[in-house]
Amino acid sequence: MTKALITGGCGFIGSHLAEALLEQGDAVTVVDDLSTGRFENVAHLAGDTNFHYAITTITNELVMDRLISECDVVYHLAAAVGVELIVRDPVRVIDSNIKGCETVLRTAARYRKKVLLASTSEVYGKSDNIPFREDSDSVFGPTSKSRWSYACSKAMDEFLAFAYQKQLALPVVIMRFFNTVGPRQTGRYGMVVPRFVQQALRDEPLTVYGDGQQSRCFTAVADVVRAITSLANEPRAVGEIFNIGSSQEVTIEQLARLTVRLCSSRSPLQFIPYDQAYEAGFEDMRRRVPDTGKIRSLLGWQPTINLEGILTQVIAYYRDQLNLV
Ligand code: UDP
Repeated sequence: MTKALITGGCGFIGSHLAEALLEQGDAVTVVDDLSTGRFENVAHLAGDTNFHYAITTITNELVMDRLISECDVVYHLAAAVGVELIVRDPVRVIDSNIKGCETVLRTAARYRKKVLLASTSEVYGKSDNIPFREDSDSVFGPTSKSRWSYACSKAMDEFLAFAYQKQLALPVVIMRFFNTVGPRQTGRYGMVVPRFVQQALRDEPLTVYGDGQQSRCFTAVADVVRAITSLANEPRAVGEIFNIGSSQEVTIEQLARLTVRLCSSRSPLQFIPYDQAYEAGFEDMRRRVPDTGKIRSLLGWQPTINLEGILTQVIAYYRDQLNLV
């Protein structure tokens, strides 16, 4: 039986991954400090004898040493994410993303345990070289804009992972997620889909930032989890970076209109300038589209759930959460 350790296992993606790994017969331990994750996300797994949890920070070296020595593979998903959190609390973002990842990699290297590292499409920054390939250049804005600290912290995590691989033979796989969405994602840290869905269900205005013509490719968490578990089982993935995302590009205004329609909502759209939504001088990415040819040719992976399917799942989840059923 494979023993998996998921850092950030009480978070949105981590909790879905925990379910999938248990289903395939793995033993799963999650470690989470509940800073942005919620125990409720995994509470339904607590009765499973193959499920264990540790509520602590990943910079807790003593605990991490024990947990990593006891597992076969580490899924490192713990990180501070969400544009709003990054703008509000950059110290925490830089600290937890760099120090936490360093602890995980150093400990995994001590025991030679494979690490699957959750990274992000943010590492491409504001490059307009669409679609982004894994070997495309990163283009970051100035260090005076805290938004870029997230992208740089995750880029640093990737550098660290490759450094540990090169110097200490640590097996690593890097996964760059593109706007993963689905049930359990919270809108508290800025993510647009849970925010729009809750606003539409309450018939409140949908807060579209900027002119709404910026675009994204939203990817269902179930498809992302399938990519993660397949990569973990593929020896040829080691030492490689993979984009994980959908290529169905949608503008934020189109997303807002579709959400209103699917919720049968009376909500209007409210356009809010970026400097009011985030902070003065905030820089957004205009387009973000992955080239997913690499993971498709290695594993045959492609997304199976389209945007309407994703929104339908998220709407059902929030109807339930908001007691609107
Ligand atoms: N956004 C928006 N309204 C909101 C939250 C976000 O218009 O209430 C926009 C945000 O400015 C960005 C896009 O939606 O252009 C996606 O934002 P999110 O934070 O979900 O992910 P990002 O792609 O920025 O990492």
